Amino acid sequence: EPLLSLQELVKHYPAGKGKLVHSVDGVSLSVRKGEVLGLVGESGCGKSTLARTVLRAVDATDGHIVFDGEDITGVKGKRLKELRRSMQFVFQDPYGAFDPKMTLGTSLEAPLRHHGMRDRDQRRERMLEMLDRVGLEEAILERRPSECSGGQLQRMVIARALLLKPRFLICDEPTSALDASIRAQILNLLVELKEQLDLTLVLISHDLRVVRYLCDRVAVMYLGKIVEVAPRDELFTNPRHPYTRVLLAASLAEQAGAEGNAMVSRLRGEPPSPIDVPSGCRFHPRCPIAQDICSSVVPEVARPGDDHTVSCHFWDRIDELSIPSPTDGK
Ligand code: SF4
Ligand code: MG
Repeated sequence: EPLLSLQELVKHYPAGKGKLVHSVDGVSLSVRKGEVLGLVGESGCGKSTLARTVLRAVDATDGHIVFDGEDITGVKGKRLKELRRSMQFVFQDPYGAFDPKMTLGTSLEAPLRHHGMRDRDQRRERMLEMLDRVGLEEAILERRPSECSGGQLQRMVIARALLLKPRFLICDEPTSALDASIRAQILNLLVELKEQLDLTLVLISHDLRVVRYLCDRVAVMYLGKIVEVAPRDELFTNPRHPYTRVLLAASLAEQAGAEGNAMVSRLRGEPPSPIDVPSGCRFHPRCPIAQDICSSVVPEVARPGDDHTVSCHFWDRIDELSIPSPTDGK
């Protein structure tokens, strides 16, 4: 049962000279109640813009966002404010998340005031409850951001996101600004909280190890479009899109410290600009197995499995076209 359903969602920005940045370019995707959905892809592929559009930080250009059965694409005013309690964002950079001049207590209290919790004791109680959940002491409320570690600040960011008791969280690279030593702690905390508080999570990450560790399903995004969605194990063992295979191979090579992995070098060049989107399959200029049809015909969504979708003309011939699955034999 989906908590969130995106239907052909589009977010374009003007790029001057009558051109458009196709940041999000027709995304249809569901997030089921209680799941952790991973959203992966290279930086600049539109992951963060998709998140901001879904959370109504920016208005969609076209398409629909349905949250818990309600079309929220155009809601405004009071209803939008109510919605903001249910849907929260955990940002990437804990160091820039709080006003450096204020104590963390003052910063943490602001959303409670803003959402009409007038009673001081009640606000205090809610703040302490959330500090406890994220493993922080009350004394941190008297400190300023500069007096805290990155790990403490990221816990604060999570506490703030939970303050209004949301049902849905989007975490955008929640650990990428942190030391490796505390990344696992923060990720484990997110999983615990998700269980305890019955949350539904979208985890945006370029780190496939994180995604493999935490997510129930994974969606792969390329240049404003979702190109493959599958349950975690299915995606990692039987990826059907060439781009997914290249990402997985790159991640394995990185883990092994290997250089010159044949797969990685087969991905040609940088991602193309979202202003001049390639015709046909937009991955074709970089695709190691592109055929003639790929530059002119947009691939339809195919279903390699019950819960597995992919947009590639050759998803069922990918093995014979010789991009072996990078996790074969593991
Ligand atoms: Fe590659 Fe063609 Fe598949 Fe696109 S449709 S991913 S270019 S093989
Ligand atoms: Mg981003």
